[in-house]
Amino acid sequence: MRTFPFYILLLFGWIMYGQQTVYYTLTHTPNSNNIEVAINFEPMNAEKVRLIIPRSAPGTYSLTNYRAFVEQVVGTSTNGTMAKGTIGDGSFFTFEAESEQLAQVSYQLDLEKMETQLLDGDASSKSRTNYVGLLGYSVFGFVEGLEENPIELTFKTEPSWPIFSTLAPTLDRPKGSASFQAENFGVLADGQYTLGKDSQIYQVPNAPIPLFVAIYSETEVNLEEIGRRGLLALNGLKDFYGYVPMPHYTIYEEFINPKSDRHDYGFSMEHLNSMTYTGDLSRAVTSYDPKANIGSIVHHMGHSWIPLRSYGRGYRPFAWQVAPLIETIWLNEGFTWYISYAYVLERSGILNFYKRNMEEAPKFIKEKSLKELSLLGSSQYAADFRIGKNLFSRGALLAHDLDMVIQKETNGQKSIKDALLGLLNWTKTNQRAFEYDEIEPIMSKATGVDLSTIWEQWQGGKLD
Ligand SMILES: [Zn+2]
Repeated sequence: MRTFPFYILLLFGWIMYGQQTVYYTLTHTPNSNNIEVAINFEPMNAEKVRLIIPRSAPGTYSLTNYRAFVEQVVGTSTNGTMAKGTIGDGSFFTFEAESEQLAQVSYQLDLEKMETQLLDGDASSKSRTNYVGLLGYSVFGFVEGLEENPIELTFKTEPSWPIFSTLAPTLDRPKGSASFQAENFGVLADGQYTLGKDSQIYQVPNAPIPLFVAIYSETEVNLEEIGRRGLLALNGLKDFYGYVPMPHYTIYEEFINPKSDRHDYGFSMEHLNSMTYTGDLSRAVTSYDPKANIGSIVHHMGHSWIPLRSYGRGYRPFAWQVAPLIETIWLNEGFTWYISYAYVLERSGILNFYKRNMEEAPKFIKEKSLKELSLLGSSQYAADFRIGKNLFSRGALLAHDLDMVIQKETNGQKSIKDALLGLLNWTKTNQRAFEYDEIEPIMSKATGVDLSTIWEQWQGGKLD
């Protein structure tokens, strides 16, 4: 029986063709620090194939030369001939194979070399005797033009090694090989992956969404306590926003012996459904502490709302080959700082910390407008952390001023929360980054308060 008209089948076929799945295979060689990544796709003219290697990622606000660790780049044609990859003018490889159709590109990575050369401990993947920990954007590249296509990722490693991914966290880890789906390259790059017996996984009971703790530690560590703190943070954010947008969440932390005196540790990074942290051994959480400072977990988990699900131009879609210009870092960071401390942690005294950061900033930072400082911070947020501190402090104090006027004008009926929900709902409806000039009108409309005066007051430099 014909249930569908033929043209619908054709249309369906076209949609499927337009969305060809790209197949990634990551092979880890047991007892080594090496991995190989192979990307298979529908045949393309060799001269059109460009393998792009990320040089930055949303939220890092920095340039990292991951291409430096990519070796033995090879394109393979439909009839099995090989074409060597050639480094381009930027963070990409091209392939010389006249009139050949390429269906695969592959490359190798030395994780030991990456960890040794990248002095930011949280920027690199790691390889140990019984552990491999991978940050998606540090190991995966993509073929230009296929970055929006769905991806099937397969891991292959030592048969007894369990495999975990923040894309689909579970206690029931497959061993030796595993496959995961990602809706596009952005999601693949945003995920983390652990292989090996020394990766410990814990699921936090009674959480509003499946909440996991993934740990690699070279000293004693207490996963339940990390989970307890994570759940406190998650419940606090849920109480503030009124909902949790993440389908699941993983707190992924490493506590390691420093690679060298020059390596830096102690930083976290936010991702759609996870946060990462790499600290030295002294930072390992070992016991219950009711007074533990959970500010960093609240902040990084809070990014799962803003900016990961509501953001300005440049943040997403992301230009992976560069550190793109982003005008709204003060919003991403400052608004999250403000609600984390003023609401979730109820520490209003932190306003003085923001004010002090602004007072202590050098003139070249003070005189920049909000937008100019954000553009500067797009690649140098932490490289000169006075830039980063000034950005989040200005953003937090702007959020505070907005909050005060919203509460005053609505007799306490509305607050900064309604402005942020306005941004989140706007992104959900419009499915794109907001423009700079759209931010204030979205917040004014969502709160019913004209916020243009406060907004304008904060746009210029802050010299006094
Ligand atoms: Zn942040």
